[in-house]
Amino acid sequence: MSGSDESASKNPGTESSSAAGPHAEPHSESFRGRLNWLRAGVLGANDGIVSTAGLVVGVAAASTSTQALFTAGSAGVAAGAISMAVGEYVSVSTQRDSERALLAKERRELLEDPEYELHELAANYRAKGLSAETALKAAEELTAHDAFTAHADVELGIDPKELTNPWSAAGSSALAFVLGALLPMLAILLPPVSWRIPVTVATVLVALALTGTISARLGGSPRMRAALRVVIGGALAMGITYCVGQLAGVVVG
Ligand SMILES: [Zn+2]
Repeated sequence: MSGSDESASKNPGTESSSAAGPHAEPHSESFRGRLNWLRAGVLGANDGIVSTAGLVVGVAAASTSTQALFTAGSAGVAAGAISMAVGEYVSVSTQRDSERALLAKERRELLEDPEYELHELAANYRAKGLSAETALKAAEELTAHDAFTAHADVELGIDPKELTNPWSAAGSSALAFVLGALLPMLAILLPPVSWRIPVTVATVLVALALTGTISARLGGSPRMRAALRVVIGGALAMGITYCVGQLAGVVVG
């Protein structure tokens, strides 16, 4: 999924950089960056909604105690947010490490064999559709301007100035999770006892249809199908934890 998004949003950027010079690049890069952040936020919120809804519906199926619901719900939200943050931190750090290694290798190659690297850059522009002459001229001009950034962009698809910060990625995904989790928490705690489960199920399914549509829109995939997938996933989660809660209520209570 992310692979096709990447190529779809990369092509306009590289086209404009060969047409309008390197100054056209930062705009499309930061737009893509913002889109990725937004998508990550929606996915994090989605996670918060589904896992917390499953948790509180399961507890509500076993017990009518508001205290039990609140305790289990808050502990679940905290655990989920931390697990999201740690997972995000690890994955973004790993990605940044490998990007840094690739950039260091590129920098070394530029120092060791600039002539070879110039022709490599020109070959990349030829592969994108420029004539041999124009490609060489573009490569020469970009090399004179900022060889390292040009190579990082064309060969690696990395903007050396815009590597993702693992701390901010961790913080924002935890925040998104908590924001999503608030919805099922409020939906289960606010209504009277007999309405708890139906209100939560309805609220969560409507919210998931919304986040599913938004994330499909951001990713450019068919909205109905994506929303349906998310809604079915959420319904399944709540259905299963409801059964688990009922069973546990019978066994323990
Ligand atoms: Zn190179």
